[in-house]
Amino acid sequence: MDHDTPKFSQTNQPILTLREETSALLSAIIESSDDAIISKTLHGIITSWNPAAEKLFGFTSVEAIGQHITMIIPSERLKEEDFIISQVSQGNQVNHFETMRQRKDGSLVNLSISVSPIRDSTGKIIGASKIARNITEQRKAAERQSMLAAIVDTSDDTILSKTLDGIITSWNKAAEKMFGYTEAEAVGKHISLIIPADRLNEEDYIIGEIRKGNKVDHFQTIRQAKDGHLVPISVSVSPITDLEGKVIGASKIARDISVQQADEEEKKQLYEQIKKLNEKKDEFIGLASHELKTPLTSINGYLHILERMITDEKALQFLKKSQHQVKKLSTLVSDLLDISKIEAGKLQISIENLNIREIVDDAIGLLSHTHTQYRITLYSDVKELNMQGDPGRIEQVIINLLTNAIRYSPGTNQIEVFLEQHPGKVKIGVKDFGVGIAADKLKHIFSRFYRVDDVNPNISGLGIGLYLSHQIVSRHNGEIWADSQPGVGSTFWFTLPLL
Ligand code: ADP
Repeated sequence: MDHDTPKFSQTNQPILTLREETSALLSAIIESSDDAIISKTLHGIITSWNPAAEKLFGFTSVEAIGQHITMIIPSERLKEEDFIISQVSQGNQVNHFETMRQRKDGSLVNLSISVSPIRDSTGKIIGASKIARNITEQRKAAERQSMLAAIVDTSDDTILSKTLDGIITSWNKAAEKMFGYTEAEAVGKHISLIIPADRLNEEDYIIGEIRKGNKVDHFQTIRQAKDGHLVPISVSVSPITDLEGKVIGASKIARDISVQQADEEEKKQLYEQIKKLNEKKDEFIGLASHELKTPLTSINGYLHILERMITDEKALQFLKKSQHQVKKLSTLVSDLLDISKIEAGKLQISIENLNIREIVDDAIGLLSHTHTQYRITLYSDVKELNMQGDPGRIEQVIINLLTNAIRYSPGTNQIEVFLEQHPGKVKIGVKDFGVGIAADKLKHIFSRFYRVDDVNPNISGLGIGLYLSHQIVSRHNGEIWADSQPGVGSTFWFTLPLL
């Protein structure tokens, strides 16, 4: 039978011979293969180039066939071709040779190549066929895997895995260090190896969560090392799933928190110590100011008696000075006493009916009398305004603000006071034209013992006046704040609800 003349069936389809059928099948396989399949002569000239090769290297078959195979070999790997050809010439196969080849665009691709000799009908080797598989992804996965393995190995945290039945399947170096069991001793054992008897039920809970596909995060517990000592740890456990997403085990990361716990305990003790000292200090301030008050009251009393007895002009002048200083000292002692009362939650506010205009007038009168060089002007439409509050404490606030306005405006002689009635509240302001306060300091000035020292190093004070004022206003459900500009002056405002 003549092999080369095609025969036709009744349906006009060519009837193929066996050889033709095999050859058609082979070329169909080559055409549809995902691997690049190339053939070449023993001189390296490309003789066939399938679609997968086109895709892999970027050259079309027209561009590739007839070219030398070095077209896709990076220059530093040209020697490999000599080796492959020498193997093939001797009738040997080269299997799964991992290397790199170059694409048309110059990029490199990781390949696994298998090369076989091609023989003619007499058995003579006339070329080589080459199957190349892109293993870039495979390589990346292997690199990722070894990177992960290195991380697990060098981690300071214990990293282990176990089956759903609790059998340990991996155990890193940190686990060896933390629990004292070597990898060989731990793998294959049940996880209860490191769980103290009274905590075995925790494992049921953890495995229960893992079976449901849930993570258990930062679970603080205690585990037991080989030598019996207990290790406080924070554990996070995650499910391990197979390719179908089925939970097949758990991976566990455990951190030794004994140092952290000791630190926390130390901090707690320190905090308690500071709290106690602070309470002692407040108690001391309270006691000391109370003790100071008694002799001050009697000095004041004797000075009053002396005032009536002394006739000498000079002596009377000195007496007045003494009285003024005693008054300052009394205010300071009262303020200190108030602070200790606030800290102990014992500052009394006694609410009664009052006329706020009268209180403002009184405070201005008092300060005008003692600081005659200042002109304190009240701007107000309010003639009489009755409300509820603690008259003594409200006056204390206004006097504090006026005293500050005077102290922090050296070289000026003017202070303005505002009394305004607003719906549901009264608003009082004290304005000076003094040193002012920088914006970043302004937010701290109502804090206890806070002073803007750098601006006014020669004006003495303890930083308690504004703190007390803030407390008093807050206790009346009012608000207090300040507007200020360094070098221009400040206005302190506060509001009180009209009940
Ligand atoms: P003291 O005046 O005794 O230091 P205060 O509590 O009354 O304490 O005031 C706190 C700080 O706020 C003061 O140290 C001062 O720096 C600043 N301050 C208060 N009032 C004024 C003002 N009218 N002008 C400028 N700075 C002021």
